Amino acid sequence: MPNYPNLKLFIDGEWRSRDGQPVFNPADDTVLGTVPHATRSDLDDALAAAEKGLKVWSRTSPARRAEIILKATQLMRERIESLAETMTLEQGKPIAQSRAEIQRACEIIEWDAQEGRRVYGRIIPSEPGMRHSVLRQPIGVVAAFSPWNFPTSSPARKVGGALSSGCSIILKASEETPAGAVQLVQAFADAGLPAGVLNLVFGKPAEISEYLIPQSTVRLVTFTGSVPVGKHLTALAGAHMKPVIMELGGHSPVIVCDDVDPASQGANAAVAKSRNAGQVCVAPTRFFVEDAIYDRFTAAMAEKAASFKIGNGLDPANQMGPLANDRRIAAMETLVADAKARGARVVAGGARIGNRGNFYPLTVLADVPDGARAMSEEPFGPLALLSRVRNIDEAIEKANSVTYGLAGYAFTNSARKAEQLAESIEVGNLSINHYVASSAETPFGGVKDSGFGREGGIEGLHGYTVVKNVSHLMN
Ligand code: NAD
Repeated sequence: MPNYPNLKLFIDGEWRSRDGQPVFNPADDTVLGTVPHATRSDLDDALAAAEKGLKVWSRTSPARRAEIILKATQLMRERIESLAETMTLEQGKPIAQSRAEIQRACEIIEWDAQEGRRVYGRIIPSEPGMRHSVLRQPIGVVAAFSPWNFPTSSPARKVGGALSSGCSIILKASEETPAGAVQLVQAFADAGLPAGVLNLVFGKPAEISEYLIPQSTVRLVTFTGSVPVGKHLTALAGAHMKPVIMELGGHSPVIVCDDVDPASQGANAAVAKSRNAGQVCVAPTRFFVEDAIYDRFTAAMAEKAASFKIGNGLDPANQMGPLANDRRIAAMETLVADAKARGARVVAGGARIGNRGNFYPLTVLADVPDGARAMSEEPFGPLALLSRVRNIDEAIEKANSVTYGLAGYAFTNSARKAEQLAESIEVGNLSINHYVASSAETPFGGVKDSGFGREGGIEGLHGYTVVKNVSHLMN
């Protein structure tokens, strides 16, 4: 029997069983378990528990909070092999990437826990007898919604930020990859987190968000997922004057200047694109390559892409696993057919592999015209789009031509070009000469349709606080 946990809701410190929907293994379409759906009364209990948990947790010292949180990540690190195997079973990514995700989730939570002890206010100088103190207080109960592509590290962003700031949280994690959140919550329960501080629910996403967001108990909404759903939830939160943190889709440009080595950079690009089979909001997608190295870059990327071993992620020899669900296969097929019809050349991949499990190869399309649907619709899968540009100005214009603005990448050895790119690319995160878009200590988030607010860094923690100014006249 595979290493897959019994899935339950977690409300007020207790696990609850409910009927629900099946969870599938994307590598072979078998059923792994049943994810429970919360009833209305479960949601009411979660709201009451979170309100109670907030009272306890916001009055717990930051040092004690950090101690409990760090105990939870210690447990996750001790359980890493079992957690990683579960993640590969339900999400499909190669086992080494699952291990890396658990480690990353721990790093995110640990950084937040430590920095939570330094969420300082300030004293503003004023006339004698008057003291203006700026306090940063926990914002309150957080309603959080996390997606299926990063089953543990996406919840970790939200749980780490909320708990380290002294908030309580109701997490609705993905029904398609629920175990990543169940195991994260189990670690906090085992670490001695007081009941009600962290609650976990599943169900029909729209029903849960539409019930929770308007509740007066909920003071902040945080969501990671698609742009249309993000806009819908932002409007709902706005109608009830709730702040939001929205980490939405991306369509990352990669600008490759002609002063870099096309062979090594082409191969690096394929490796970066293959991560989580391209199902990453910061995945490099639109490659704008300067004319002089375009052909050599394209050949190197295609060669590397074609070399990847694809199969069940539990086999450590496989470098790419299946896509997480069949919606992604349908999206790849539609976008590739459209691009080909408009003149793009398939230089690697291009068709589904087999019909058991959701396997699709890393697909590299060259000479993709600007009008191809994939150039403006987020593929969210293993699709790389290559386009020849005359110069860096043309590359910048094309990079900024979409409604997205999450991550961007640029490769150059010229300080002048790097500076121009840093100034001009419309994204929340630009990486120059590497493909790491974010780390625990850096602020991560988007501009334009890619979202609002930041996760990570001190900016991320501040999102879970409210500022109160206290003016005290001392007689
Ligand atoms: P989708 O738009 O149906 O759902 C996206 C996510 O939002 C899912 O996790 C889903 O459970 C949740 N969701 C949907 N409706 C909701 C609602 N009314 N209230 C609360 N949550 C709701 O798309 P999908 O097919 O699951 O995913 C594909 C698209 O989602 C991709 O094209 C990509 O843009 C986006 N996505 C982005 C990220 C990210 O990291 N930013 C992660 C996963 C998916």
